[in-house]
Amino acid sequence: MAKNPLPFRQKGPLPLREALRALPPLAERLGMRVYLVGGVVRDLLLGLPNFDLDIVVEGDAMRLARALASSLSCGVLAHPRFGTASLTLEGGYKVDLATARTESYPGPAALPRVAPGTLAQDLGRRDFTINAMAVVLNGPGAGELIDPFGGRRDLRAGRVRALHSRSYRDDPTRAFRAVRFAVRFGYKITPADREMIRKAVGRGLFGRLSGARLAAELDLLLKEEKPFLCVRRLARLGLLRTIHPSLRAGSSVEELFARAGRALRWFSREGRLPTPDAASLYRMALLCGLSPEELEAAGERLGLMGRALSGLKGSVQGARRAAEALSRRGTLRPSRLYRLLENLSPEAQALALALSPERKGRRYLMDYWSKVRDIAPSVTGDDLLGLGLEPGPLYRKLLTELREALMDEEVKRGRREELRFIRMRLKKLTKA
Ligand code: ATP
Ligand code: MG
Repeated sequence: MAKNPLPFRQKGPLPLREALRALPPLAERLGMRVYLVGGVVRDLLLGLPNFDLDIVVEGDAMRLARALASSLSCGVLAHPRFGTASLTLEGGYKVDLATARTESYPGPAALPRVAPGTLAQDLGRRDFTINAMAVVLNGPGAGELIDPFGGRRDLRAGRVRALHSRSYRDDPTRAFRAVRFAVRFGYKITPADREMIRKAVGRGLFGRLSGARLAAELDLLLKEEKPFLCVRRLARLGLLRTIHPSLRAGSSVEELFARAGRALRWFSREGRLPTPDAASLYRMALLCGLSPEELEAAGERLGLMGRALSGLKGSVQGARRAAEALSRRGTLRPSRLYRLLENLSPEAQALALALSPERKGRRYLMDYWSKVRDIAPSVTGDDLLGLGLEPGPLYRKLLTELREALMDEEVKRGRREELRFIRMRLKKLTKA
């Protein structure tokens, strides 16, 4: 055990510091030992901010969590089945407490069997050496770093290394996690780990992962700061084709990701526009080169069904159709712009922008959000009733036509002009 006090008590937001100060005496009183573990320890050593406190307890985590919550007067959410509890502090900061546990894997890629254990066992079930360190919070050795697998050395060397040779076979999602940390920190995945990952791919172990687990890991990667680098690493390790064999990480995908990133930043900068979700935008960017059949298969592989699956297909198609129209020479009629965009999610709109000439696309989108979509007739269904019209589908048709005519400035705004338009349309319709 290295004598190595970390500055964990001095740093970070006040609510987290308070929680860290309150924990040790409470644990002492309950006769438990508590440790700070995982990503937060790694980030402390790297000097990076991390506002998720993960605490491992040798003892009943739930009991300690309740005591901590009442001492801090905050809410606690318990998950008795997993022996974990989480506290939400002022400012939305979270503290997760878990009873130390040991895991065994009944078969490759199967969910583990879990039992209470020691800190050493809890660190031994983790993914990488850099994530398998702990800081003692109370009792003898408080403040010291526990680093049984050489995590600190690997941090210095810039290495992502699994704890043992069965790691990726036990849990193939770790291959995606390896890419996440390697790209985030600019580290190497060790040659031995790369070999293990390729073997797991070769043995078809990724096919045993549920769509939901695969999708969750992919989304975590796509939320990273450099999503394309993640995708490229996935491709090099043979992991991209576990999602769909036609997926590529070539220069056109690189270009599209760069454009999608700019679209995302532009949307977030412009106050009037909604903020697209990065993971779902990049997911569509990754999949949008696929044929409709391939897109369907990839969506299914990611666990999408029913409406979620048709939603993905609709979004990708809609974005492509909109991008095509936005890219054409000449000007787009506002009503056509409206029809192209009204049913697209913010992510699909951002993808459409990424697929279009940038300046022109931004101008159209700005037009849509700041002007076109707010244009609505002042004439209503009641007015149509007043004209003696039988309520029915015709109402919708007339009001839509009117709205579009207003958008395209073919009709002046105001009841008089609008009613004149309606009468004229009616005359035409009855003649036809
Ligand atoms: P981030 O900064 O992205 O949150 P993190 O290291 O905190 O990184 P989490 O996914 O939040 O990662 O997981 C917390 C900890 O739980 C990890 O540091 C790791 O020790 C452990 N862990 C998470 N997923 C796995 C897994 N699939 N196999 C083994 N250990 C895992
Ligand atoms: Mg975390």
